[in-house]
Amino acid sequence: MDVPEASHSQDEPPDAANSSNVSSVSLTPHMLAKIERNRQRALMLRQARLASRPSSAPEATCAKVAKIIDSGAGFFIEEETTEDEQQEKRVVKRSLEVWGSEEALEEAKESREENRDVQKQKRFNKKVKELRRAVRSSMFKKDTSIHQHVYGPEELLDEEEDLYRKVCQTCGHELTFEKM
Ligand SMILES: [Zn+2]
Repeated sequence: MDVPEASHSQDEPPDAANSSNVSSVSLTPHMLAKIERNRQRALMLRQARLASRPSSAPEATCAKVAKIIDSGAGFFIEEETTEDEQQEKRVVKRSLEVWGSEEALEEAKESREENRDVQKQKRFNKKVKELRRAVRSSMFKKDTSIHQHVYGPEELLDEEEDLYRKVCQTCGHELTFEKM
């Protein structure tokens, strides 16, 4: 605060420099107190946010994950891990708020992990099921979509034998047949 502020603030007491706009309007002591309370609350919130940050900076984690994603190797798993980590942090915070004990926290963690495993298994089963269905339907399609010959006009081969021939216009398959 050694650097002189704008010239207009020189006449005012140093405290009023930051809130010159506010002080120029006449405020009741009640309003001033409310402003001060809000400021204090904002400060506390900020401090709480800073304090709640884990020792390992989340930026570092993000950078690490981003690298893994860039490499293209198993990014689904990595992404899920980060999400789960965030989710777990939320669960930890909430369980501490609700039960306020380490045991409750551990229980919540365990049930969360259990639930996560169950969900993972369910997702896996669903995928397998979908895959099986897809394979089955593609095989079914193959069976029904076996080439149906589209024959051209019948051609008389042997009048005495009543022998005819027709050729598939698509694959060239020749069918020789007799007419009764
Ligand atoms: Zn054919």
